[in-house]
Amino acid sequence: MPRLLAVTSASRTYQVRTYGCQMNVHDSERLTGLLEDAGYVAVPDGQQADVVVFNTCAVRENADNRLYGNLSHLVPVKESHPGMQIAVGGCLAQKDQGDIVAKAPWVDVVFGTHNIGSLPVLLERARIEREAQVEIAESLEVFPSTLPTKRDSAYAAWVSVSVGCNNTCTFCIVPALRGKEKDRRPGDILNEVRALVDEGVLEITLLGQNVNAYGSEFGDREAFSKLLRACGEIEGLERVRFTSPHPRDFTDDVIAAMAETPNVMPQLHMPLQSGSDPVLQRMRRSYRQERYLGIIERVRDAMPDAAITTDIIVGFPGETDEDFEQTMHVVREARFASAFTFQYSKRPGTPAATMDHQIPKQVVQERYERLVDLVNDIAWQENQRQEGRVLEVLIAEGEGRKDDRTERLSGRAPDNRLVHVAVDEAIGVPRPGDVVTAEVTYAAPHHLVADRVVGLRRTRAGDVGENARAEAAPGVLLGMPTVRT
Ligand code: SF4
Repeated sequence: MPRLLAVTSASRTYQVRTYGCQMNVHDSERLTGLLEDAGYVAVPDGQQADVVVFNTCAVRENADNRLYGNLSHLVPVKESHPGMQIAVGGCLAQKDQGDIVAKAPWVDVVFGTHNIGSLPVLLERARIEREAQVEIAESLEVFPSTLPTKRDSAYAAWVSVSVGCNNTCTFCIVPALRGKEKDRRPGDILNEVRALVDEGVLEITLLGQNVNAYGSEFGDREAFSKLLRACGEIEGLERVRFTSPHPRDFTDDVIAAMAETPNVMPQLHMPLQSGSDPVLQRMRRSYRQERYLGIIERVRDAMPDAAITTDIIVGFPGETDEDFEQTMHVVREARFASAFTFQYSKRPGTPAATMDHQIPKQVVQERYERLVDLVNDIAWQENQRQEGRVLEVLIAEGEGRKDDRTERLSGRAPDNRLVHVAVDEAIGVPRPGDVVTAEVTYAAPHHLVADRVVGLRRTRAGDVGENARAEAAPGVLLGMPTVRT
């Protein structure tokens, strides 16, 4: 079959459209790796691809409407592009399965979250048999990390530690679509990390729906902190991050591993969702306000400069004014560097969608605006505390920006804050993947400006990225695929 694949799919172009979370961004790296392994090539900018793949998200209420809207836009395109194929994967495909072809019969392939490896074969089968192919596995076939990958960045990489989730938060559909938690063996993870560092990668992000429950499948409650410490032993690995932890499973051995392992970054994304105990109970989040603030306090004791971010849902069914004030109280106490804030939206198929006391939209909107104002005020104050600090900034992909006098490039500080760094020609023009040492001269609400450059460290990642850009076909964009949230 591989030979047939190579012959028929050779030089057909593809485009992967990614929606949703980091898990999907990482899966899309596998989808592009699979397609390129099968002989497809990335479509040059501005051209219509022969194969369009939607890697969908099912978390937001209008996720369905948006997918079917996008699919209907492709009807005339497909009519004028003989042989064009459309494939739909990801969480919405796992949920809707054959309904997608019933609603959009011009779709050629539907595959699920557990069998992304099947995409190339299903595309070929659909082409040969001139019939839509719907293949959804109810459990994981192969760990996605074993599939070919085309990474988006020369200097940073996602590394899965687990897929699926054992929790049952009442607003969340992930467990139903990604299944129970499955953990990778520590050795497989560390081998992948070492291989990435050998390719020039400086920064890795350990990825899982609930990373600090890692090890529960093979009965080691401290497996995650051991993994962090093991990453500390890898020569050349400069930055280790992880997402997403869950407050219920966030234990002191992880805080100690973060504080005592130099290449684990002082940054933590800890979803709160609500500050109210009654609401947390109805969300089935199995922790309460006191535990959450206790974790924040112990993290700050161990790493005073740690940047803590979070996720918060406003307007969960039954949320009273007093409940909302509890959320505002936690935000004032925790002093988040930033927060992803969401207005609760019903997700059909989740317990919360049928709960009583759904909150009127204008009440949710009013609370949401008050929360965003408070979060932004505190984020700016916390940014202003960075002024005068000298930081190492890992330069990101993407164009620089120029204001009236100064050209700047963007990158991330160790605590993951966004920093716009001045380009000092005398010291040298940094490339994506290089590390600039600079002093923060101004703090804006959502980024820092560092105009006093102290030093520039060229890295192998910078070389690798530079060579890749030189080799890339004209018009083919390197770096981040188009992520639509
Ligand atoms: S921890 Fe809760 S919110 Fe997160 S993926 Fe699992 S069920 Fe969903």
